[in-house]
Amino acid sequence: MKKKCIALLSTILISVSSCVQNQDVKSKTALFNEAQLLEHVKTLSFDMYQGRATGSAGGRLAQNYIIKNFEDLGVQPFRNYKHDFDVKRNESTITGTNILGLVNGTTYKDKYIVISAHYDHLGIGKNGQIYNGADDNASGVAALFTFAQYLKDNPPKHSIILAAFDAEEIGLQGSKHFVRTIKEENVLLNINMDMISRSPKNELYVVGGRYHKPLEEIIERFENPTSTKLLVGHDGTDGKVDWTLSSDHSPFHEHGIPFLYFGNEDHSDYHTPSDDFENITPQFYINAVEIILSILLEIDEKGV
Ligand SMILES: [Zn+2]
Repeated sequence: MKKKCIALLSTILISVSSCVQNQDVKSKTALFNEAQLLEHVKTLSFDMYQGRATGSAGGRLAQNYIIKNFEDLGVQPFRNYKHDFDVKRNESTITGTNILGLVNGTTYKDKYIVISAHYDHLGIGKNGQIYNGADDNASGVAALFTFAQYLKDNPPKHSIILAAFDAEEIGLQGSKHFVRTIKEENVLLNINMDMISRSPKNELYVVGGRYHKPLEEIIERFENPTSTKLLVGHDGTDGKVDWTLSSDHSPFHEHGIPFLYFGNEDHSDYHTPSDDFENITPQFYINAVEIILSILLEIDEKGV
């Protein structure tokens, strides 16, 4: 009898504790699966991708990985998944390939929010060392998959183009090509992610609000759900390096399309063979993705 009582009591305790755990888990992973996010960064920065240089076999493997994930997540092709363009390189021409996915909007089907991250990196150095580019920019590409998963379960009002750009490292050529091929008036804004997975100071920067008042207001009023600091800066107003033209958001800006760029400051592994998965800061990265997704949802809800 006593034994049974204890068993009953432990059943109750287990139910209570699993209930508490479930609540914990629910509040922590309400937006996305953190383990999957990290797994994608890890995979894309494996040596087998050979540093994902534009026009290389490793680059093509990365393209296949991105397309496979888009397909698995129900992301439609934007016309096609693959968009080729010519890249002039050392007096020869190679082929760059943007990978573009589409999630249709429920209310504003013909207005696009372009969320971008470049998947190319520096390839293999002269001495054979592989530049895996975990932070730069497997981190941004993995976030695209996380957003795709979220949008599959929670369809957005605006149509969303998930853009994995090529040839960023050799002159933003993928994003330049993309902007040349779209109707600017149909693009509401660009949200660009480049290097979002590490910061010893736990600081994520956002650039671009100062060029478009409605975006600035959304950033100002944003209630950050994480412990990571979201700082407005590196935008030509604070004496720090100005990132307005530093990555794939630049061609959008130059065509008068509003943008927000998210990134962390350069680090000791920046553009070195040690930009590896082991050196990213998982909790900072998870927080950064949560911040960016939360801001995207606000923009989708309110428009800009
Ligand atoms: Zn980059």
